[in-house]
Amino acid sequence: MSEHHNHPPIQPTAGSVIDLAEFDPASRTGDGNRDQIEPELNANIEAMEGLASRLYAESKQALLLILQGMDTSGKDGTIRNVMRGFNPLLCRVVPFKAPNEDELAHDFLWRIHRQTPRRGQIGIFNRSHYEDVVVVRVRKWISKKECRRRYRIINDFERMLVREGTVVVKCFLHISKDEQRRRLQARIDDPQKRWKFRRDDLEDRKLWPRFQRVYSDALTACNTRHAPWHIVPADSKPQRDLIISRILRNALEEMNPQYPPHIEGIDKIVVK
Ligand code: ADP
Repeated sequence: MSEHHNHPPIQPTAGSVIDLAEFDPASRTGDGNRDQIEPELNANIEAMEGLASRLYAESKQALLLILQGMDTSGKDGTIRNVMRGFNPLLCRVVPFKAPNEDELAHDFLWRIHRQTPRRGQIGIFNRSHYEDVVVVRVRKWISKKECRRRYRIINDFERMLVREGTVVVKCFLHISKDEQRRRLQARIDDPQKRWKFRRDDLEDRKLWPRFQRVYSDALTACNTRHAPWHIVPADSKPQRDLIISRILRNALEEMNPQYPPHIEGIDKIVVK
């Protein structure tokens, strides 16, 4: 077995500087073999199902998963593969597109806050308020100063969520530029994937280095103790799914949700 294998992907610690260039998008845990990944992924999904049911019954805490990443980094695929075990009653996916006129007429957190999960539920953000410090900064729609102000607002907002009982799990799906080229080309070549292709994706791709820099800055500024970032190597899809399932299972286990106490004397009740 080569040394390269079995190396856990390096994870940033809360508060540390995140330079995406230092994280290998193809880093592997285990040997990356699908035969080994599937059983662990399935076991994690099964464990998550049970934990999520208890979270719902308990109704005291919520879990918010924030997914960010470049185009084609696999946010949709992650949701399809890793969240498949969740009962739709207790899990809600919210995608954030470019803001509409109504949303633009408010502060940038207005549309975000109203979508956070209720106690007992799991919310999944497919893109998030991080677009408001990344894509808008890449395009220079806001100044550096304004961006720093937003970082503070985001950190305060997330701290408030955590203090009020929502665990905030943030995952950046990290792909290489070359992997993005393959995935975009596949969208063009495969008639069943063509609907996903947008010309803007090519425009964003031209700005790849700037996106990576701006992302590194935002991830660093918001890599807080209460809501740290995970950098998920995402060039391999099975690998990516496995790592996210580990992160989520771990978060749910730490939340340790409990069934509420029974009504007194329930064991004596007979339904007639
Ligand atoms: P997907 O998330 O599947 O890529 P779209 O192709 O519709 O969905 O992309 C959503 C687009 O909306 C992205 O280009 C993203 O950068 C943009 N977007 C999301 N939030 C914001 C925001 N707050 N400000 C500007 N653009 C945003």
